[in-house]
Amino acid sequence: MERPAPGEVLMSQAIQPAHATARGELSAGQLLKWIDATACLAAEKHAGVSCVTASVDDIQFEETARIGQVITIKAKVTRAFSTSMEIHLKPVTLLTEQDHVEHNLAAERRKVRLQHEETFNNLMKESSKLDDLIFDEEEGAVSTRGTSVQSIELVLPPHANHHGNTFGGQIMAWMETVATISASRLCRAHLFLKSVDMFKFRGPSTVGDRLVFTAIVNNTFQTCVEVGVRVEAFDCQEWAEGRGRHINSAFLIYNAADKENLITFPRIQPISKDDFRRYWGAIARKRIRLGRKYVISHKKEVPLSIHWDISKQASLSDSNVEALKKLAAKKGWEVTSAVEKIKIYTLEEHDVLSVWVEKHLGSPAHLAYHLLSDFTKRPLWDPHFVSCEVIDWVSEDDQLYYITCPIVNDDKPKDVVVLVSRRKPLKDGSTYTVAVKSVMLPSVPPSPQYIRSEIICAGFLIHAIDSNSCIVSYFNHVSASILPYFAGNLGGWSKSIEETAASCIRFLENPLDDGFISTF
Ligand code: ADP
Repeated sequence: MERPAPGEVLMSQAIQPAHATARGELSAGQLLKWIDATACLAAEKHAGVSCVTASVDDIQFEETARIGQVITIKAKVTRAFSTSMEIHLKPVTLLTEQDHVEHNLAAERRKVRLQHEETFNNLMKESSKLDDLIFDEEEGAVSTRGTSVQSIELVLPPHANHHGNTFGGQIMAWMETVATISASRLCRAHLFLKSVDMFKFRGPSTVGDRLVFTAIVNNTFQTCVEVGVRVEAFDCQEWAEGRGRHINSAFLIYNAADKENLITFPRIQPISKDDFRRYWGAIARKRIRLGRKYVISHKKEVPLSIHWDISKQASLSDSNVEALKKLAAKKGWEVTSAVEKIKIYTLEEHDVLSVWVEKHLGSPAHLAYHLLSDFTKRPLWDPHFVSCEVIDWVSEDDQLYYITCPIVNDDKPKDVVVLVSRRKPLKDGSTYTVAVKSVMLPSVPPSPQYIRSEIICAGFLIHAIDSNSCIVSYFNHVSASILPYFAGNLGGWSKSIEETAASCIRFLENPLDDGFISTF
């Protein structure tokens, strides 16, 4: 039998019908209750006094468990922050290397937690300007009015610890029940909880409180739906006076499946002012989650770069161009920001993130193509390129370049070897293509000064509007090594994509300006 390490707490539970949904799967609410109870016991083992849940980071649900299975939950304290608890805590003793990794990640998560509110408010301020942009009665979009749900619970002794404080996990379980009902009003299929956005308990609740839960769908993203739940607590007197205490708000993300397939939800049509705020709130939270994924996951990537082989030039070049066209044609791109001539879209497929930056330009498509397909000019306008030199001018359509990138996050600088394949429009077409992917080249091996990066699929599609204007679309299928350059932007704490796009527009519209003239 597994024994807990020092400082760890283990809980094992056999899943009974009372813990399960009508389909015989462990209910997410019950799981949240067990996780919270185990975490609380680990905290108490460390602190020596009774603890309550103050906040919860993002939770992801990966697998479902079923009746008859046994589930084991392991909890340990990864870090104690003296300011986040009212008692002075002894520092956590770190034993293994894994403990150290978790200890450092705990600090990063805390930074994200502290930044969260400011980032969220900034994103909301920006999005209020976008209200007119999206809603000219989108086809098939639905109102959320029918998904509004209210429910009430009376807190009894079994829902609370021996001091009478309601268990956080119990409140989360009740929230989950109400949120599931709300989401089920939008689709009849089987719903399952995918993740819970991080949240804080704003105030305590105790035995004897009435908890009122209100939930509504805030927004949908392809196969996901975000439901928000607000909880207010009333003691006896507050109840009579109709004056509650707001103790918690949480945001739950669900998928829905019909047999084996995930269902695509209809888009949401916001109507009231509250609808609009929640609609944009859901987008802001999604962006922050995307940014945070990178901070927390620290994924190692298996290199995918293909070997450059001159005898396969034609097929490598064609597949480079085809991959870019395929990425651009994918369904499910969502607008995440728009300022003047620059629109940013993102596409999330499982764990893969792609970015599309659309720029409206007052210059001819052929000129934009000429300037963008020559990568040696890229450092002139793109701060993510420190240098770029031609390694091999393979043909008129294909060039190999060596690129160096600046340092981010105090890491080493990055470098990358890419194949750039370009195409003019076919006879009746109007779209120019510049496709980029990284390749391995024995003559340019990785060096110790640089972290060798990878570009899976990126590039430009340039679409002529008339003889003097065009739309330039930049795409990037974001690999782990490129993600640091995007994470802050998507998460809302940096504007680097917009700044780079604006610089690109300036360059393409006025390539002979002082700032750019040096290499002509
Ligand atoms: P906000 O409305 O700004 O998102 P709140 O903390 O007031 O923040 O509410 C959290 C979530 O709870 C909302 O996003 C919404 O999904 C849900 N909610 C709040 N009030 C109601 C209500 N009166 N009816 C239905 N759902 C509600």
